[in-house]
Formats: sequence, C-alpha cells, structure tokens
Amino acid sequence: MKELSELKFGTKAIHAGVEPDPSTGAIMTPIYQTSTYVQEGVGNHKGYEYSRTGNPTRNALENAIAQLENGKYGACFGSGMAAIDCLIKMLKPGDEVISTNDLYGGSYRIFTTVFEQYGIKFHFVPMGNLENVREKINSNTRLIWAETPTNPMMNIIDIKGLSKLAKEAGALLGVDNTFATPYLQTPLDLGADIVMHSVTKYLGGHSDVVMGALVTKNEQIAEEMYRIQNSSGAVCGPMDSFLVLRGLKTLHLRIQRHCENGKKIANFLNEHPKVDKVYWPGFAFHENHEVAKEQMRDFGGMISFTLIGNSMDDAYAVVKNVKLFSLAESLGGVESLIGHPATMTHASIPKEEREKSGVVDSLIRLSVGVEDADDLVEDLKQALR
Ligand SMILES: *Cc1c(COP(=O)(O)O)cnc(C)c1O
Repeated sequence: MKELSELKFGTKAIHAGVEPDPSTGAIMTPIYQTSTYVQEGVGNHKGYEYSRTGNPTRNALENAIAQLENGKYGACFGSGMAAIDCLIKMLKPGDEVISTNDLYGGSYRIFTTVFEQYGIKFHFVPMGNLENVREKINSNTRLIWAETPTNPMMNIIDIKGLSKLAKEAGALLGVDNTFATPYLQTPLDLGADIVMHSVTKYLGGHSDVVMGALVTKNEQIAEEMYRIQNSSGAVCGPMDSFLVLRGLKTLHLRIQRHCENGKKIANFLNEHPKVDKVYWPGFAFHENHEVAKEQMRDFGGMISFTLIGNSMDDAYAVVKNVKLFSLAESLGGVESLIGHPATMTHASIPKEEREKSGVVDSLIRLSVGVEDADDLVEDLKQALR
C-alpha cells in the first residue's frame, strides 16, 4: 500500500487525517465535545489536557487539511480572520508586509486597522506584475501575502515567481488559498511557506460553519503557529470540526461541479449583450491565463462581471431579480450566491482604492454552486433582462 501522501486527491479527501475511533471503531471521527481530559496521575494523560490546546476532533481535521495541502502541520481557528491574525502575530514591530492590493476586505481591515497600530507596515501592490513587489522589498520585509485568484477581480498571481522573490528577500510567503482550494492549487508545492484558508468557504462547503486554517511544512513556523493558536485561543469547536471533516470528503466532487458550472456561466455571460467585462481565469484572453494554466488544475466557479454603462442601479436590479442565486456575502457553498462587492464585501475599502483595483459600481460577483447549470443560466438570463 502506498503512503497516504502519494495517493490521488479524491482518495486523500476521504481518508486523510481520519482513523476509526480507537475506543469503538466508529468510522466517523466522534465529536469530542469536552473541555478537559481526566489524567490518571499528574502528567500521565493520553495526549490531551485541555481543548484549547488540543481536541481529537479538531486534530483530525487539522491533519486532514494539512495532508490535502501537501503540508505537514495544520491548525484550525474560529474563523479565517483568526487564522490570519495568528499568522501576523508571528511578526514584530518594524516588520513589513507586501500584500496584494485587491485582497479580501476583511484582510485589508485587520492589516490597516489592527496590526498597523502594533508597528507593522503593510504595502498593497498589484501582484499581477511581480516588479511591483520587487520595488517594495527592503531589509524589513518579513512576509509576502498573496491571494490567488484574487477577490473579486480573479487576478492570478504567479506563486512560483513570488516564492523566488520571497527567498531572495529572506521573507516568508503566505498564500490565501480560499478561492482555489487544494483540489485546484497547492501553494506549498509552488514554494509558499504558509497556506491559509477561510474554511468557511469551499472546504466546509455547505454554508454552515465559520472557520479558518493555516498549513505549513516548516517545523519552526509550525511551533510558532501552535504557540500562538494556544496562547491567543481563537480555536474552533469540535462540532464545527466534525462538520468540516464531513464536508472535506466531497471536496473533489463539489469542486469538479463548481468548475463545470463556472465554465458554462462564464461563457454565457461573455456572450451576453448587456455584460461588459467578465473576469474568470479560464478565458484565454484573461490577463494571466497562462499562469493560471500553469499553477491551477482547473479554473473554479468564482466569476465577476460588469455591466455595459457601469450603473450601480442596474447592478442592484440584477442582484435583486435573480431567483436561484441568493444575494449574500460569502462563497464556496453548494448553493449559488450573488454579491455586489462595492457595497458588500469591499465596503470597508475606500472608493478610490477599490476602483483602482477594478471594483467599480456595476461589478457583480458570482459564487457558482453545484445546481444544474442550465437552471442557473436561465436565472441569470431573466435577471439581466
Ligand atoms: C472569507 C474570506 C476570508 C475570511 O474568512 P472568515 O472565515 O470569514 O473569517 C479571508 N480570505 C478570503 C479570500 C475569504 O474569502
């Protein structure tokens, strides 16, 4: 039998991190809904002392996500933002971070309104062109932070290229892999040091959990990660861990369908007379399509588009008139969602800043679910009408 790490993704999605429960043989990891663990004598325990530090359900999930990302060490948190919080706490006052400019609004907010106060400096640059990153590197650069595909403009950033720059600079490379998932892209294989997930999205996949994760192969980073996870205590609970363990088992099946549906809808929008631009990395005309082809296994179900005339009211009408797509924040669940980034996910980014990165008034973002694609196309057709 091969090592688990050598098996194909679908096999790992089912088997990674989970073993039959040693006390009963239960095939599903039980929900260890407990805060503490009885010790036989002082210091004589079964590996668990207190559930902030470690919990068997959470640990099974942490191992599963680590293996899917081809990493070694995983840590799960109460949200994606708590995972980013842990990562930035590895830095010290005076350290500098170079981040992509069209990143998740919450990441921009924690960087600028929380961590800048602690003396950490952030630079936001378009990373489609790596020269922009190189220009900001100096002796204080400690972390390069990328999201790819980016939210909501679906820009693709060359992870391998960034990792070369990070190594030259003596900095760490962290990648928010929420949009791609390890089924489509494994940043650690491309030279990243740390991968982050909003598990809330595709990994959970069923819109029922808020959770975050970090994964690394590096033992020193892992020590820091677990020290901060245990010290700050932003851990996720056993029930949520169980739900995500269940969600992970169908990750490959869901993403395959997200990709198929995404392709059909991107093509439909691209030909629609009321649609101006369509942002989806699977198009040959996408600015970084070649990089996407190189580092991703397929192109996903996240699509953004603008309307001819760029009117806010027209965009409001579309998001109001859809019937199968639900108007909501978030993404990555089995059900299709529609959103208006300028007033929803990106409202915390100043107008001038967001328009520079392409988040204009008529921009609409779709998280294409796993429904029947024909019904989704019909729904968009009537809403655009
Ligand atoms: C949602 C999201 C986050 C934040 O995760 P939460 O689980 O909501 O805290 C970070 N990055 C990306 C790309 C996201 O979509």
